[in-house]
Amino acid sequence: MSEVRVRFAPSPTGYVHVGSLRTALYNYLFARHHQGRFVLRIEDTDQSRYVEGAVENLLETLRWTGLDYDEGPEKGGPYGPYFQSQRKEIYHEHVQQLLDKDAAYPCFCSEETLNAMREEQQKKGLPVMYDGRCRNIPKEEALERMKSEPHVIRLKVPRTGNTMVKDIIRGDVSFENALIDDQILLKSDGFPTYHLANVVDDHLMKISHVIRGEEWLPSTPKHILLYRAFGWQEPQFAHLPLLLNPDRTKLSKRQGDVAVEDYRAKGFLPQALVNFVALLGWNKGDDQEIFSLEELVKYFSLERVNKAGAVFDVHKLEWMNGHYIRSIAEDEYLRIGQEWLKKLNLDTGDAQKNRLILQAVRPALNKFADLPQKTAVFFKDALEYDEQAKEWLAKPESKEILKIMIEELAQTDELTLESFKTLMKTVQKRSGQKGKDLWMPVRAAITGETHGPDLGIVLTVIGKRKVEQFLKQALAI
Ligand code: GLU
Repeated sequence: MSEVRVRFAPSPTGYVHVGSLRTALYNYLFARHHQGRFVLRIEDTDQSRYVEGAVENLLETLRWTGLDYDEGPEKGGPYGPYFQSQRKEIYHEHVQQLLDKDAAYPCFCSEETLNAMREEQQKKGLPVMYDGRCRNIPKEEALERMKSEPHVIRLKVPRTGNTMVKDIIRGDVSFENALIDDQILLKSDGFPTYHLANVVDDHLMKISHVIRGEEWLPSTPKHILLYRAFGWQEPQFAHLPLLLNPDRTKLSKRQGDVAVEDYRAKGFLPQALVNFVALLGWNKGDDQEIFSLEELVKYFSLERVNKAGAVFDVHKLEWMNGHYIRSIAEDEYLRIGQEWLKKLNLDTGDAQKNRLILQAVRPALNKFADLPQKTAVFFKDALEYDEQAKEWLAKPESKEILKIMIEELAQTDELTLESFKTLMKTVQKRSGQKGKDLWMPVRAAITGETHGPDLGIVLTVIGKRKVEQFLKQALAI
């Protein structure tokens, strides 16, 4: 394969859709796998969609996920600028080339004319598209009118034949030219449309493979016709499958979060999100599901990307995130966890206690935003008991344990992991109970529940005074 150069070409809309993250990731993996170049190009020519801070947000999201690009904003590269809004002249020159070759033409139709055309076509049940009436204006006349009349420039799409898209993932897809609109290339405000800017840039930036979402497939025959009109060799295309909700409708905001930032804000780890997104349409060919970024680079190939839509299963993402929460280095876990405690107002002000809390909840934590619920036992002032806890506490043997515990606690200075162990040994000896029969009553009394984090840590963190209070309260029910 000649040099692989791929690009991620987002239009900055304010947030990064998980589908965009997948596009970026697959481009990144493909580039790294083939020792190629990964280009970031900002497609910001649609002024009406300008959103303040969108580019910064995009760059920050890429940084967070670790998808490092080789050329683009803040990095430069031989074929920049990588903002389309800074390349206007380049597009104008290229449109001129097409006009000179008679491959494009100015269209002077007004909004009203186009609306009337559309209505007429709808009434007759014809496909809605530009009917090409400005195609036949004699060249001289057209040039003259261009000087004074508002106009757009359109591509002269052949009226007959087919245009074939050879797609690495989807195979050959044929489009009937008669159904392809004379695409607008340059708008009346002088800005290029997506189609023109995208094709010109992919050519000038020497892009070898265009890897993007399936929603762009219908645009591809137009792009191929444009490459031909310029006399250029087209790149290879690979269109990635749609992302679906669990009910197999197109992934939408209404059914859950679609922005990468939303997942970040909920305390998903970038490693988990990247791993999860990698599997939305690709698999290694066996049942391996956990991959580091390095492994993904090693195994990724476009040949193993599916055509069929990929279901976005947030439960699987949670499971995967839990896996990463438990498998990252302890230091890293504690550092991130500490930030979250602060953010969620759960900081005890005591570093040692924070640490114990984080260690205690780690085995059952799937995302950091669940910390309030997972750490609730450490912060209760009054207890309520669930049904199972009540059952345990109703037993006479349990009451006996709690009584002994209160007596022993009075003999203990301070609760630590060590002193708690010693205390429980004594309670075991004196009550004659062990295992579940010993521990469940204590857990039920101190937490109101029969499941939860390590009991020694819970008691150590909440401290002797509160433990005594809870024991007495439990004895009274
Ligand atoms: N700017 C387009 C987008 O927002 C790029 C599509 C493409 O990759 O060609 O997704």
